[in-house]
Amino acid sequence: MTSVQRSRAVTFRLDVHSSSGQLAESLAEDVRVGLTTEPRTLSPKYFYDERGCELFEAITELPEYYQTRTELSVLERVASDLVRRHQPTELVELGSGSSRKTSALLDPMAAQGLLRRYLPFDISSSALVGAASRVADRYPDIDIHAVAGDFSDHLDRIPEADGGRMVVFLGGTIGNLHPKERSAFLETVRALLDADDILVVGTD
Ligand code: SAH
Repeated sequence: MTSVQRSRAVTFRLDVHSSSGQLAESLAEDVRVGLTTEPRTLSPKYFYDERGCELFEAITELPEYYQTRTELSVLERVASDLVRRHQPTELVELGSGSSRKTSALLDPMAAQGLLRRYLPFDISSSALVGAASRVADRYPDIDIHAVAGDFSDHLDRIPEADGGRMVVFLGGTIGNLHPKERSAFLETVRALLDADDILVVGTD
């Protein structure tokens, strides 16, 4: 018996503002400065190359890494209500990674007839390509515009809003930023939002 597998072409847009080549250039300087000061520091953004993203996903499957499961179950509980109250037509996801939790938000937006666009933002282009393909496969009728960039430099490259917006920053990734960086980050995020929009931050 012959079985025919149909594969559907998926389309999305990806803008790359931070490439692995650029990261490799800044890594040497950041290692030199970060590992010669006290306390020693190195930005977690360097963890997330292709292999690092795979390892992160594997870690989230561990029994002791409760955060992913807990956050997902909270989102599943509250998302419909949030969507009903704020009526977002687009979802911006900062540090979207594998976009594994994203359906918990996109599903109720689609079910309520609102969903038009998904805008994932991450430093990892490879994670964005994989995630955007999966989302495009699941929601073939929406626009997907992925942006590869650094929280510190490229949030302003996220396209202008085209309707009500929900911005989410999940996984406790805000903990990757130093307290001083966090206020600058949140100020920049504020510029992505109109008065009626909503920001959801998942923290531990
Ligand atoms: N949101 C997902 C992934 C969390 S892991 C979840 O909740 O499971 C953190 C994500 O943030 C990774 O995908 C990583 O590539 C991204 N990230 C880390 N530092 C970043 C930076 N400086 N700029 C943009 N993305 C960054």
